[in-house]
Amino acid sequence: MTTRIAEYWYEVHPVSDGISLIRETHVATWLRCNIWHVRGRDHDLLIDSGMGVRPLKRELPQLTERPVTCIATHAHFDHIGGQHEFDCRLGHRSEADIHATPTRENTADWGPFVRAETFSALPHSGFDYRTYSVTPAPLTGYLDEGDVVDLGNRHFQVFHLPGHSPGSIALYEESSRTLFSGDTIYDGALYDTVYHSDKALYRQSLERLRSLPVNVVHGGHDDSFGAGRLVELIDDYLSGGNTIVDADAWINSQIS
Ligand SMILES: [Zn+2]
Repeated sequence: MTTRIAEYWYEVHPVSDGISLIRETHVATWLRCNIWHVRGRDHDLLIDSGMGVRPLKRELPQLTERPVTCIATHAHFDHIGGQHEFDCRLGHRSEADIHATPTRENTADWGPFVRAETFSALPHSGFDYRTYSVTPAPLTGYLDEGDVVDLGNRHFQVFHLPGHSPGSIALYEESSRTLFSGDTIYDGALYDTVYHSDKALYRQSLERLRSLPVNVVHGGHDDSFGAGRLVELIDDYLSGGNTIVDADAWINSQIS
């Protein structure tokens, strides 16, 4: 286990017009989520907020210069850890209880995922992965199917896409055909065996995304991809592949 304290925790990659990807440099690639920052005229968006092991705002000036709306694509620990730093916190109503009282179990059981091998450096002195927890951050408002997140110059439609979790949502900008998909789809093995996953609903959600006109999909993990890869990933899943059947076995395969 490393004892090195990281100087910086977050890295920022400008992706396209007003969209940046923020990653937790020292969290293993097989776990860290994509944190998306979207600049808007009236306010900015932060889509997911990482594990919360080190404050975002202290390191990232773009999160304090302008009003930021923090949106949770769903309430799993790797996506909601930094949410408590923001005054405006939006997500789906069906996961409100998890946001208010996050536990190891209800945020997708971080037990197997948060281990010595997860961190290539420590976020602060005295950090011990065994005492990892998520700071409660109750939602201040709800997003649901058909809602529109309006930044003044950009508009994102909210899709409710249950399956990976009951309150999974995605954000879609029609003008640029950009989809922020959370953990419903990303370029990796999909996880449909979380305690509150629903495989039948997951299939429906993916069938819906399959026909969506997209130029780019910014997922909750891994690299972004285009329309062809979206269909490929979905078809692979719908035909029985591309899934995490057993989390422990999958993590071990990633570490070794
Ligand atoms: Zn998840």
